[in-house]
Amino acid sequence: MDGWVRPEGDEVLDVAIVGGLVVDGTGATRRRADVGIRSGSIVAIGRLDEAAHRTIDAGDMIVGPGFIDLHTHYDAQALWDPTLGPSPLHGVTTAIAGNCGFSIAPLTDRTASYVPEMLSRVEGMPLASLRAAADWSWRSTADYLERIPPTSIGLGVLVGHSALRGAVMGLDFERAAAPAEIAAMATLLRAGLAAGGLGFSSSWGTSHRDPDGRPAPSRFASHDELVALAAVCGEFAGTSLQFIPPNMNEPFDDEVLEVMTTMSAAARRPINWNVMIPEPSNLDACRHNLRVAAEAGGRGARVVALTAPFPALTRLTFDTGFVLDVLPGWEELFAMARDERCRVLADPQRRGELEQRAREPSPVRRFFDDWGDMHLFDTHTPATRRWAGRSVADVAAATGASAFDALIDVVCADGLLTGFGRLPTRAAETTMRARAEIWADPGTVLGGSDAGAHLDMLDGFALTTRFLQGAVREHGLLSTEAAVHHLTAAPAALYGLHDRGRLVEGARADVVVFDEETVAPRPCEVRTDLPDGSARLFGAAVGISHVLVGGEVVCERGEMTDARPGILLRSGRDTLTPSMAAVREVDG
Ligand SMILES: [Zn+2]
Repeated sequence: MDGWVRPEGDEVLDVAIVGGLVVDGTGATRRRADVGIRSGSIVAIGRLDEAAHRTIDAGDMIVGPGFIDLHTHYDAQALWDPTLGPSPLHGVTTAIAGNCGFSIAPLTDRTASYVPEMLSRVEGMPLASLRAAADWSWRSTADYLERIPPTSIGLGVLVGHSALRGAVMGLDFERAAAPAEIAAMATLLRAGLAAGGLGFSSSWGTSHRDPDGRPAPSRFASHDELVALAAVCGEFAGTSLQFIPPNMNEPFDDEVLEVMTTMSAAARRPINWNVMIPEPSNLDACRHNLRVAAEAGGRGARVVALTAPFPALTRLTFDTGFVLDVLPGWEELFAMARDERCRVLADPQRRGELEQRAREPSPVRRFFDDWGDMHLFDTHTPATRRWAGRSVADVAAATGASAFDALIDVVCADGLLTGFGRLPTRAAETTMRARAEIWADPGTVLGGSDAGAHLDMLDGFALTTRFLQGAVREHGLLSTEAAVHHLTAAPAALYGLHDRGRLVEGARADVVVFDEETVAPRPCEVRTDLPDGSARLFGAAVGISHVLVGGEVVCERGEMTDARPGILLRSGRDTLTPSMAAVREVDG
């Protein structure tokens, strides 16, 4: 290098993060080190003596790789809210969308109106917002990807099966596809992956229904159709598979296990399914599913469960009907127009029938075993105002009605808008130990936030900060080092995100600086900031000091900045083909 004259300032770092404790994502023990960033990459870890344009004092906080959220539905939100909020406030620097078969491309003239209607139903995004947010004039996946403006964090999208089915079969999808139709879907999928799509997603999930109450298009797909489409991913480097099985917290039936195994083996790509939420009541089913999935490894497959560390706060309404519509016989109620639904709920006999049927066996039966234990989060008229923040049992005691009647009376008075659900309770130690066992299993990866979906219902976007607060600090189940690994290197490896998930020299400078003593989600609020003024749940975090994406600060002390350094991830460029071997690199 002698004789070279360096341009003035060449050695100056863009950013120096000094005085922190580096937790690098591999699970290795923390070490005190400064982190130097130049041109979007980490260029030095150690004691820095170079000057920097900007210095961030990490003051004994943890400096780790940015968190990776593999399961979001930010496809449409990216078009109107390029911050992809609130995820970055929780340390997320890379999000994957297009899950569950519900990408918003490809489209045809016919499905440009159907797809937003379906999304409004299955993923809880208000239809008027979806329509106000975009003109839905793109057709190919490439065309859609071009429409995404610069975002705060990295965003990758899968190509969804329901979108593909709609594009090829139109609204005549309640049947098996013919061979020529499967070939046409494969062609569209191929084009989507060539344009940078990160893989293929699909669903047989029983809660996935369209606005007319019909099962979502992908639920009619045969085994052969799923395998044929999955196999297309084998033609493209750096792709992945994602699937929603029916009844996911019960033991897999043979057909479901077989289809996931065959899809993975045909594509030579891992398939992840979600979401596993271990509870004492389903722990045996979780263990069973992990064992049979591990056996699939012998057949050239890798079947991975995304597991959510804590159930999200669930805010239910009779306006959207999510979750409620899984109760036996209740789906007809939510296929009705709102006025008719109000009339049915007001009718004592019909109401009694609904209460009766809610007691029948169903995947959500346990959630509704005590209506009195439900909490009213928000009410919407002067007459019901006094009940906001109270339990249904309180209302019942005050009004002399049964718990179910008390709830439905408030719901009817509120024109269906009442938000209610269970308050989070501190999980029992036995439950938490069971969950820790599941996290440590090499057949699982942490995830399943569903961020960007169920906007007025779930706070899954807080998965990362809740995990650090609950699993590490409150329950002491694992170290910060292991927890960070679960949020970074492990999901990065599953999707082949080769320069993310580890805080090492040469990696992208996606960095989160947080205080392990205080990191936690803040309480949610209902915000009416969707494109048409509809409401969503929004919650920030405490204890996240700085979030950097490609070396630029996107969050500072709990607030978003104006920086939009996030890139659109493209398969084969930002991903390598993920390994088919299941390995857990750290304990716990
Ligand atoms: Zn999903």
